Amino acid sequence: MTGDQLDETVSACLSLIDTRFPGGEERGAAAMLLADGTILTGTAPDAVNPAVEVCHEIEPYAGAFRLNQAVVASVCLHRDERGRLLVLSPCGVCRERLAVHGPDVLAGVAAPEDPTQVVWKALRDVLPDYWMTVFPGEVTGGW
Ligand SMILES: [Zn+2]
Repeated sequence: MTGDQLDETVSACLSLIDTRFPGGEERGAAAMLLADGTILTGTAPDAVNPAVEVCHEIEPYAGAFRLNQAVVASVCLHRDERGRLLVLSPCGVCRERLAVHGPDVLAGVAAPEDPTQVVWKALRDVLPDYWMTVFPGEVTGGW
């Protein structure tokens, strides 16, 4: 994985927001870099009942499984009402999903001084007390 690939992953996420939602409304998307260099993107469909909506990460996450590829980096961006593109770190459920790919998976999180800047952090640093760490080597993913 290279810095260029990470930059391209963020660009793919931005591009999806721009092309799918050209009206400038509040919307978001996610992008994941896979082990073979493929970048998959996704966004969450609307639902009548918000309780059944899913995270933007679901589509690239499921796509990686379909392609039998490990996820190596994941980023989620949200365009707010001012047009800023805020970096949303993965929610708790998405962190659990990413954990399947091991503690070295990179998650995009917001820079403390600027929420529009992506800081890449290894999942182990985002989840320092991850429950699976009490079973070292016994489970999938290298925790
Ligand atoms: Zn999520």
